[in-house]
Amino acid sequence: MEQNFNCELVQDLLPLYQDQICSTFSRTVVEEHLRECPDCQRIMQKLQDNRYDRQLLQEKNNILEAHARKERKKTFLIGSSIAGILTIPVIVCLICNLAIGHGLDWFFIVLAALLLTASVSVVPLMVPEHTVLWTLGCFTGSLLLLLFTICLYTGGNWFFLASVPVLFGLSVLFMPYLIRKIPLSGFLARHKALLVMAWDTLWLYGVILVCGFHTAAADYWRIALQITTFCLLLPWGFFLIIRYTKLQTQIKAGVCTILGGLFGVVVNPVIALILQDRERFLACTSLEFALWNENTVNVITALTIAAITLPAGIALIVHGFLKQRRHHHTS
Ligand SMILES: [Zn+2]
Repeated sequence: MEQNFNCELVQDLLPLYQDQICSTFSRTVVEEHLRECPDCQRIMQKLQDNRYDRQLLQEKNNILEAHARKERKKTFLIGSSIAGILTIPVIVCLICNLAIGHGLDWFFIVLAALLLTASVSVVPLMVPEHTVLWTLGCFTGSLLLLLFTICLYTGGNWFFLASVPVLFGLSVLFMPYLIRKIPLSGFLARHKALLVMAWDTLWLYGVILVCGFHTAAADYWRIALQITTFCLLLPWGFFLIIRYTKLQTQIKAGVCTILGGLFGVVVNPVIALILQDRERFLACTSLEFALWNENTVNVITALTIAAITLPAGIALIVHGFLKQRRHHHTS
C-alpha cells in the first residue's frame, strides 16, 4: 500500500523532475524512489523518449521551414525578374506609340498581351496562396482585356461574340477544378458536379445568344435552341445516370453505351427534322446503294455504331447483373 502511494506521488512529480523545475527535496525523493522502483523507471524512460521525439520533430520542422522560406524567396526573385523583363517592351512601346502616333492606341494591345504573358509566368511564381485560382483569374482577365483592346482598336463589334465562346471553353476546362476549391456548404457542396453541368449549359446557351445577335439567318433562334437542347440531352443523360442512379457500375456503363449509340443513330434524322428539310430527312433514313453518296456513308456509319454499341451495352448490363447476383449470394 505504501509502495503504491509513493509511486503515485513520484509519478506526479516526474514531469516536473524531467523539466528540472521541482525543489531539491522532491528531486532527491524522486531519485531515491527511481533507484528502487522498476515501474516508475519505465514511466520515466517513456517520458524521456517522448521528449526526444518531440525535439526531433521540432528540429525537422525548423529545417523544412527554413528550406521552404529559401525556396519562396528564390521563386519570388525569379518572378520579379520576369516582371522586370516584361516592363521593357511596355516602356519601349509607350514611347514609340507616343512618338509616332498622336496618342496611345495600339499601346494598350501590347500592354494586354504582356499582361497575358505575366498572368501565366509571373503570377504563379509570386502569389503565395491559392496560386491556381489567381493564375486562372488573371489569365482570363487579361485574355478578355486583350480581346477588348483589339476589338476597340480595329473598330469591331465582335467583343462578346469572341469572349463568350472563350469563357465557355475555359469554363468547360477549368470549372470542375475551380468548384472543388470554392468553399460551399449544404446542398451545393453535395451537388458540385450538378453545379458544373448547369454552369456550362448556361454558357453554351450564352454562346447561342451572342451568335444570334450577329446573324441574320432565317429562323435562327428556333433552329439553334432546338439543336443545342437536343445535343445536350446526351451529356445530361450520361451525367444523371452516372451521378444520380444507384445502378452497379457496369450496368451504368452499359446503359450509357446504348444511349450513346442510339444518339449516333438518331442525330442526323433529328437535325433534318429541326431544319424542316424533308429531302435530308429521307436521305438519312433510307439506304440506297444504287445512289452511293455521302448520305449512304452516313447511314452506314450510324448503323455500324448501333451494331457495335447495342451488343456491347447489353453485354455490360448482363455482366453487371451477374456480378451483382454473385455478390448478393456471397454476402
Ligand atoms: Zn514507484
